[in-house]
Amino acid sequence: MTFGAVCSACGSHFVVNDGGGFSFEILRCDACGRERTILHSEIGELHAAFETAWRERSEDAGRKKRTKHVRTQKPRPGLSLEEEYQTKLTEFAGPCSCGGRFSSQAPIRCPDCGSRKFREDPAEPSILYD
Ligand SMILES: [Zn+2]
Ligand SMILES: [Zn+2]
Repeated sequence: MTFGAVCSACGSHFVVNDGGGFSFEILRCDACGRERTILHSEIGELHAAFETAWRERSEDAGRKKRTKHVRTQKPRPGLSLEEEYQTKLTEFAGPCSCGGRFSSQAPIRCPDCGSRKFREDPAEPSILYD
């Protein structure tokens, strides 16, 4: 998802890309908010391995639906698949030039002042008029 935003602190207009897509992941620096896009083709084997694991897990969950439990997930030792995948993405992305680390959970920040407060810009998101 891409949308235009206006910083509530400094009034700067910027474009936010949020969430990954079918062919890429978007990570953000947890310190400065810089975006890092990782194509699935860049992480081919890693992504394929997790996709297989996710599919197996959901097939597992499908089978268990017969017992009327509503998504009771056994607590697992260690990281969940999703967390493990995110950790690998962070490792792959490497450190940001500011020293922060990239994460898909990092908050969106204004690229000018680093504020986390912004509102959606109702104007055309990708074209900025002064
Ligand atoms: Zn700002
Ligand atoms: Zn950074």
